[in-house]
Amino acid sequence: MPGLVVVGTQWGDEGKGKVVDFLAGQKNVQAVVRFQGGPNAGHTLVGEDGRSLVLHQVACGVLRPGVQSITAGSTLVDPTVGLSDIAKVRSLAGNTSGIGFDARCPLILPYHVALDHLREAEASEGGGKIGTTGRGIGPATEDFFGRRSVPLGALASPDKFNAALARVLPEKQRLLRAYSDELFGRAGIECPDDIIGARWLEEFLARGTELAPHIRSDATKEIHDLLRRGLVIFEGAQGTHLDPIHGTWPYVTSQPCLSWWVSCALGVNPSLYRVLGVAKAYTTRVGEGPFPTELAESLGENLRTRGAEYGATTGRPRRCGWLDLPMVKRAVALNGCESIAITKLDVLTGISPIRVCTGYGKFDAACFYEDLSGWTEDITGIREWDNLPQNARVYVRFIEERVNAPVSMVSVGPRRDQMIYVPSFC
Ligand code: IMP
Ligand code: MG
Repeated sequence: MPGLVVVGTQWGDEGKGKVVDFLAGQKNVQAVVRFQGGPNAGHTLVGEDGRSLVLHQVACGVLRPGVQSITAGSTLVDPTVGLSDIAKVRSLAGNTSGIGFDARCPLILPYHVALDHLREAEASEGGGKIGTTGRGIGPATEDFFGRRSVPLGALASPDKFNAALARVLPEKQRLLRAYSDELFGRAGIECPDDIIGARWLEEFLARGTELAPHIRSDATKEIHDLLRRGLVIFEGAQGTHLDPIHGTWPYVTSQPCLSWWVSCALGVNPSLYRVLGVAKAYTTRVGEGPFPTELAESLGENLRTRGAEYGATTGRPRRCGWLDLPMVKRAVALNGCESIAITKLDVLTGISPIRVCTGYGKFDAACFYEDLSGWTEDITGIREWDNLPQNARVYVRFIEERVNAPVSMVSVGPRRDQMIYVPSFC
């Protein structure tokens, strides 16, 4: 099968970027394709030399020579963030010619970002805040499905862009004028006139000109062609439980997060791809919403510090807790995961016992836990499954038994070479 879809099985930040970067180094990989989300994602790549790169819009194949990094038309694009990603790649790797964005990508415009902040500021008054990344994801997605968005390709000429905007801007201006100056202040928007009066237009068009060499007229066709030539990795963002349909609604993102979105968004037949789920060895969540295994006390703080659990996009501290196996199991079923990759196993070194949630109460969300013995040996230098401490292997086997999918790889550190292939049981 020429396609591999990599998805998160938790609430995002499972380490998909690292797994994709690692897999993109395999023979015959033609492209890595971002297929959903937008600049709310933060994918951290760390090379063998320890240098790191955080990407928000560009797909994670950029550090592998000869691999295209394509952002498909189903992904929201903020050109400023896209250009900042490209600049980072240029300074780290030099070559940016493999970076492409589909002309159909719906643009995130300044009023989307403003509305995101205004809604959150208003909600925080009476609760009901989502804890978004503030990147305009909700409002931009609504506009796309409401047929009121502006595609990236419109930036090709001022006339085209102005015409596309003229169709949608008056409504946005009416909407934004209805918010008080006080709320704009609370939302941290310094000059509402910049957004309502559309003074940002010129600057926006200039960014479009800069991005133009990377805009592909029909990335969908390119991707279908690449699937005939070799391997294509489809890179998910966020995670299964942030999916607007299957996640912890309303505390979810607005873009679909499941593997099958590859078929809907790109017209790729599901028989052409396998699905790899990524699960962190414990659980984290950033933003509001339920979190049954959350550790409020010092152990949560301990995990946050050891695992450097701070949002790659917003810098917010991530909430931390024990591994929730029913949650991962549900993600395996929803996405059709053929196998899973466990990340950040090294973060658990020195913790004993390690608690794992294996079920919930019938009438409430109380968790049932099982305790597993930990290990104390440093595992970050280990590359062979057989060399892992016995208790670490037991932990991994315990996971695969409970989630109905084999574990195919284990990550033992942030660098891309810190990965262990797991031999199958039988
Ligand atoms: P939005 O996608 O910015 O609208 O945020 C909605 C929810 O999804 C919030 O809880 C965010 O913290 C969460 N979220 C969005 N993108 C990511 C991500 O890439 N990693 C982790 N959480 C995310
Ligand atoms: Mg992230």
